[in-house]
Amino acid sequence: MKPSVFRITSLVLLLALAGGCAKDAPAPVPGLAPDATRDGHLALGNPSGATTNPTNYTNYLLSKSQFALSYHRDKGKPNWVSWHLSRAWLGSAPRQDNFAADAELPAGWFRATSSSYTGSGFDRGHNCPSADRTGSVADNSATFLMTNMMPQAANNNQRTWVGLENYCRTLVSQGNELYIICGSYGSGGTGTNGYATTIAGGNIAVPSNCWKVVVVLPEGSADASRVTSSIRVIAINTPNNQTLAAAWGSYRTSIDAIEAATGYDLLSAVSSAVQATIEARVDDGPTS
Ligand code: MN
Ligand code: MN
Repeated sequence: MKPSVFRITSLVLLLALAGGCAKDAPAPVPGLAPDATRDGHLALGNPSGATTNPTNYTNYLLSKSQFALSYHRDKGKPNWVSWHLSRAWLGSAPRQDNFAADAELPAGWFRATSSSYTGSGFDRGHNCPSADRTGSVADNSATFLMTNMMPQAANNNQRTWVGLENYCRTLVSQGNELYIICGSYGSGGTGTNGYATTIAGGNIAVPSNCWKVVVVLPEGSADASRVTSSIRVIAINTPNNQTLAAAWGSYRTSIDAIEAATGYDLLSAVSSAVQATIEARVDDGPTS
């Protein structure tokens, strides 16, 4: 009696497990590896050595499941935001548009709210884009936290910047996974109300430049070890104004130039020899 009960129980358990697996497995996409994963946002390095010590108010690390960032308390915005992008992050969650203060900031720090940019002439410019985090409502909502925003000129945000954001998802649809790091630096930009160095009563700094670095890898595992001297990297540095060109490709530069402008060490988890090669290169590949 006991053995047969055991066998029936085992059979039921196996069927339940099989059913569970079939339900959770991602639908295979023709031509793409069936195993896209969500990987660590700082797998290629922490560009500024940001830490979670709340006395580190100029370079404070906020590590979320959706992205990681370095926050500057007195600029009221991130220094940089870094995230992994693969098919595993993309789903059908709609754009939430629920801009909100970030409760993870240390107590007593200025917290930008959904209305802090109102009337400033600058867009609430996403660093990690809404459309890169559509796997769930929670993932999409995270991109609307104000710690993910920078005061960005409309013609930058809505034309040039969005163009590279869209191209990144095109690269993912072609079988790649990406590591994306972007940020803003410098003082003063020009929005629809003209030039400004700060908004929100001086609590949020307006940057002069918005930059982005994209590391392109075919889908796979052990990503940092696959960053070789022959992989594609894209770097852009754009002016934060209303007169920039719409084509993001015209702002391509080297990672070395962005490191020089920001003082960061990008891709620090990659060997020095590989960094020296890929960081000196200026991309000339397709832009759409
Ligand atoms: Mn991977
Ligand atoms: Mn570097």
